[in-house]
Amino acid sequence: MGRCDLDHQKIYLSSAMPIALVDCNNFYISCERVFNPALEDKPVVVLSNNDGCAVARSNEVKELGAKMATPWFKMEKLAKQHGIIALSSNYALYGDMSARVMSILSTFSPKQEIYSIDECFLDLNGFDPQSLVAYGQTIRKTINQHVGIPVCVGIADTKTLAKLANHCAKKRYAGKDGVCDFGRYSTTQISKLFATIPVGDIWGVGRKITEKLIAMKIETVENLRTANPNRMRQQFSIVLERTIKELNGIPCIELDEAGTPRQQIMVSRSFGQEVSNFDDLSESVAYFASSAAEKLRKDGSVAASLCVFIQTNPFKEKSPQYNRSVVVPTGKPTGDTVKLVNAAIHGLTTIYRDGFNYKKSGVLLMGLQPKNAIQSSLFDDVAEQDKSNKLMGVMDSINRRMGKGSMAIAASGTQQRWAMRRDSKSPNYTTDWDELPEAR
Ligand SMILES: [Mg+2]
Repeated sequence: MGRCDLDHQKIYLSSAMPIALVDCNNFYISCERVFNPALEDKPVVVLSNNDGCAVARSNEVKELGAKMATPWFKMEKLAKQHGIIALSSNYALYGDMSARVMSILSTFSPKQEIYSIDECFLDLNGFDPQSLVAYGQTIRKTINQHVGIPVCVGIADTKTLAKLANHCAKKRYAGKDGVCDFGRYSTTQISKLFATIPVGDIWGVGRKITEKLIAMKIETVENLRTANPNRMRQQFSIVLERTIKELNGIPCIELDEAGTPRQQIMVSRSFGQEVSNFDDLSESVAYFASSAAEKLRKDGSVAASLCVFIQTNPFKEKSPQYNRSVVVPTGKPTGDTVKLVNAAIHGLTTIYRDGFNYKKSGVLLMGLQPKNAIQSSLFDDVAEQDKSNKLMGVMDSINRRMGKGSMAIAASGTQQRWAMRRDSKSPNYTTDWDELPEAR
């Protein structure tokens, strides 16, 4: 770090230690468009499961002025006028697509921090500063070719600036074609640009702080960048002081590498042969849930909820199609295979319908947190907790020594009919979405 005093005459935006922030555009909408190209260029919203609020909007909808989290019933008039298409959310699909995007992005840098379902930081330290814009374009092209999702790339010396550069790439304030590298701009250009961006658009500057800042006439990014950091620390917090330093190119927020626990764990697979009965499906779901639980424990995490999904083969257009997911809370966050498998099977019973040929199922663990961050309550059954920890420990060590699946719970089945292929043909990796190699 070293460079600690702020000198506004000299802005450190040289991209000497560049970080990229790659963010998917309108992620949920883009995922839906991959599988339904008819949605391209149409106004589309994705609605939340329970309350029917718009949780994602396509650019066309944004242009109509519909705000995020607007309840659908409030949008109905606008929707009729402009033919807005409303879709219910399919978190299983988004989780799966996210895993694919992140796995490809990990090949672009030795250090990756997955920040959320649709964005990650990449350390570009040591890359030729002149070539970063072209590199950003390669990233965009690769993700588009392999997954079909449009992304924007922001490049700068600190995480806060990289976020802002990404914002600029999206809004087309600066940096054409979805890539913005602040290192390519002179200090005067940067000052001019920052003076056009509202202070509330800065990463970590929430609504309350924004209101307070505006009352103090700190209205733009440039106003905050040139504010006195000591005074701001006294009036706000050390967090805002850090933000100011970061806006001036002084890194204060470290890159959290892959060593940090993941935010979600997805295990899913297309079946070797389609299955229609509940028992076969439930075996597959139990198997995926236990494998996800094993990854979870390896990270030292616990999960607060779990999403189960099942789907028929979308490429057999003449067969009846069925595609459902459900989110099941685990009660107290847990890493216990038995509890997670039970939750998954319970979820499956609520979405399973007779009379369909299922091609794929999967389990997505969500709301992950470090195990030791969970406070035990007075009423927890300590003995039971202890027993569960021991059992899971034994299970993991046996599977480590004897090979995966040596010790499993009975629900995941011994026949595993769904896992077998009818023929020995290799998967159609490039021609069949369903058979793309999956990132786990
Ligand atoms: Mg995004």
